[in-house]
Amino acid sequence: MRVPGVPFVQGRNSFTDADGKHFGIAIHNTSNANLASAEDEADFATRRTDGISAHFYCDKNSIVQSLDTNARAGHAGSTEGNQNSIAVEITGQNSFSRQRWLDSVAWDKLASTLAFVIRNDPDYAGFKVRRATVAEMRDNPKIKAFYGHDDMRRAFGGTTHTDPGPNFPWDHLIAVVKAAVDEQEDDMFSDNDRNALTSANFRAMGVYADLDEITYRTVNGASRTEPNKAKVARLALERKVAELAARPQLDIEELAEAIAKRINGH
Ligand SMILES: [Zn+2]
Repeated sequence: MRVPGVPFVQGRNSFTDADGKHFGIAIHNTSNANLASAEDEADFATRRTDGISAHFYCDKNSIVQSLDTNARAGHAGSTEGNQNSIAVEITGQNSFSRQRWLDSVAWDKLASTLAFVIRNDPDYAGFKVRRATVAEMRDNPKIKAFYGHDDMRRAFGGTTHTDPGPNFPWDHLIAVVKAAVDEQEDDMFSDNDRNALTSANFRAMGVYADLDEITYRTVNGASRTEPNKAKVARLALERKVAELAARPQLDIEELAEAIAKRINGH
């Protein structure tokens, strides 16, 4: 999958993925002393010959996709890591402080990009927006969660890399991705759809009209149950109509006479 709205610059890749399936999201930092931008990293990825590759590069203000999410990147040092996760390279270093991390990443773009993958790639159905423990990763290398390069090192071996580093703000990453997943679920219906659903016309749709709650489902199996706003709106409308109908009827002629009297001062 290529994420819509994210620039795609096809990176060089020496791996072939057996089944195109990935389940985890691996977080790295580029450990580049000059802090090359995401664009420069993606550009370098088109010609590097060391076998290293990643699906996404993210810096302070942008994100670039380098490989389709079904491609196998060389990023983990282990078969388990490379085969089961997509790689996100964030420009930064292990020595960054928490505050520097918070200030150095396009968190909104990173979050919306990863939320799109989580919500739309069927392999990520059931993905939990949290960081896996090393024990869980050893137990199940296909665990559907976030983890770092260091977590892969400890779970699967094959590397000495310890990125993204001790001060990487995992809590912040998890929070912004969770929020983006929720937001994209809210966007499942356009405003027009919602207006149509909440209009009294919805009554004509029969079977849904009397449900108190409606469960919306996405293709990847995520679901959200909400009160049936159409039913709430219909009941309110019916109450209003009944209220109006119950009012004493005005006699228009009587009213006209009363107005005329007042105007004429009688
Ligand atoms: Zn790494």
